[in-house]
Amino acid sequence: MGRGRVFAATSNPGKFEEFRSLLAGLSVEVLSLADQPPVVFPEEGTEYEANAVAKARAVAEALGEWALADDSGLEVDALGGAPGPLSARYGGPGLDDSGRVVRLLGALEDFPQAQARGARFVCVVALVGPGGEQAIARGECAGRILASVRGDEGFGYDPVFQPQGFEGSMAELGPEVKDQISHRARAFAELAPALAEIPVASD
Ligand code: IMP
Repeated sequence: MGRGRVFAATSNPGKFEEFRSLLAGLSVEVLSLADQPPVVFPEEGTEYEANAVAKARAVAEALGEWALADDSGLEVDALGGAPGPLSARYGGPGLDDSGRVVRLLGALEDFPQAQARGARFVCVVALVGPGGEQAIARGECAGRILASVRGDEGFGYDPVFQPQGFEGSMAELGPEVKDQISHRARAFAELAPALAEIPVASD
C-alpha cells in the first residue's frame, strides 16, 4: 500500500531527526527540503502557533505538498518565561547551541535553588495541506535547568534540561526516552489523527 508524504518545514537537523523517528510508526513518509527549490520562510514572530503555521504554509504553498512545521522553545520561570518562542535566537545571532546554553547558565547564576530553575519545553506543530487544510497541536515537557551541561545527545538546550521525574539531562536520557516524554512527542501524538488523513501520494 502507498503512503502519504509530508515535507518537514525545518532546516534544524536535530528537529528533522525527531520528526522522522516520532512519525516512524505512522503510514506517512517524512521528507526533507534538502533536494527542493529553496523556500522563503517568513520572519518569525513571538507566538509559537503563528510561527509554526507560517513555516508549514510557506512550504505547502511553495511545493504544492503537505508540510509539517514545529515552533518550539524553552520557558524558564526565573526569566519570566523567556526565551520562549525566541529560544533559537537567545543571546543574539553570533551564538550556536552551546553558546546559548552558556548564556542561559550565566543568566541563572543568581538562581541556584532548584525551585527557581523550573522550566518547560513547549512545542506547537502545524500541518498544512496543499489546499490550505490545517491542523495544529501543542505539547509541553516540564523540568528544570541544571547547574551545568550533561550529556551529548539531542540538540539545543537538552544538555541543561532535566525533565521532571528523571535524574539525568535530556541529552543524557537519549532519543528513546526523549521520544516518549518530550514536548515534540506529545504534540505529534495529538496530531497523529490528522497526519493519518494525508492522502497517498500519486507519484
Ligand atoms: P524554532 O522553533 O526553530 O524557533 O527553534 C526552537 C529552539 O528552541 C531551538 O533552536 C532550540 O534552541 C530550542 N528547542 C526546541 N526544542 C528543543 C528540544 O527538543 N531540545 C532542546 N532545545 C529545543
